[in-house]
Amino acid sequence: MNTDTIHKNDEKQSSQPENLLEIQNLKTYYPVKGGFFKRTIGHVKAVDNISFEIKRGETLGLVGESGCGKSTAGRTILRLLKPTEGSILFEGKNITRVSGKSLREIRQDMQMVFQDPYASLNPMQMVGDIIAEPIYNYSKKSKAELKQEVMDLLEKVGLPPEAYFKYAHEFSGGQRQRIGIARALALRPKLIIADEPVSALDVSVQSQVLNLLKDLQEEFELTFLFIAHDLSVVKHMSDRIGVMYLGNMVEIADKNSLYAEPLHPYTQALISAIPSPDPRQKKERIILKGDVPSPINPPSGCPFHPRCPMAMEECTKQKPALKEVKPSHRVACHLY
Ligand code: SF4
Repeated sequence: MNTDTIHKNDEKQSSQPENLLEIQNLKTYYPVKGGFFKRTIGHVKAVDNISFEIKRGETLGLVGESGCGKSTAGRTILRLLKPTEGSILFEGKNITRVSGKSLREIRQDMQMVFQDPYASLNPMQMVGDIIAEPIYNYSKKSKAELKQEVMDLLEKVGLPPEAYFKYAHEFSGGQRQRIGIARALALRPKLIIADEPVSALDVSVQSQVLNLLKDLQEEFELTFLFIAHDLSVVKHMSDRIGVMYLGNMVEIADKNSLYAEPLHPYTQALISAIPSPDPRQKKERIILKGDVPSPINPPSGCPFHPRCPMAMEECTKQKPALKEVKPSHRVACHLY
């Protein structure tokens, strides 16, 4: 490599923003229709003002109970859902409102791995065609080049070449997820949003798929937003973790800090529910009272206050902002 090339590469790297993705005050509301004229009578506040960033090559885990808005957040970032407010910056470029050709270009760089690989794979198409489709749509490769690329992808995800000619129903759950991963990789994206990628799989194959994702992350220099409800899985995969509750980000920190010293009472309850690897070690579990309130009519003040064992009067009136209380550890709670 000559010195000019080296300088050009250095310039290119230094001109790239450190954060691949930056989410600022993102909201996704769904209208609730009612009455004879089907007017909008309210909104489901699925994502209600979240902000975070993901550095290049990093994995950010997003956790929370089902219905907390984590999947909606992932789909909004990919622009599969329309954001109501806020901004999505990808490589420093605001993609919140892009459409048409610009959106199509962005989609090459951001891909999704879904929870249910079977539902996301066309049962009428051969696996080779499923994986080739995005490459075909975005490039002018010959049939032979396409086939070679699909064969390479099958090998990368640990499937035999014969898989090319089979249909999705001929594979096990873990193998189907490998097909879904190969398809997500086909356009060589920079960001992968993995939405509960192993929760539909047998425990015995979960770790194989997780390890595959980790290997591919290194090989393809991928950045991950890893969405899951299982805190052990998220801990295994993530560098940093964000905890969501009722559409809000309530805590975000690097994983060691979050697991060793969770600050938000909701995070403390989630972590107390993880079984200890040593059955002789007694762990006190925090049981939360009540259910998650409706996102159509969230509580005033702190969204967690009706269930919080530490709630104070202020919590019913004032919504706490997410603020940094320790280096790289942010929490939304009036206790801090
Ligand atoms: Fe609990 Fe109040 Fe903190 Fe909310 S702000 S988590 S209600 S202590």
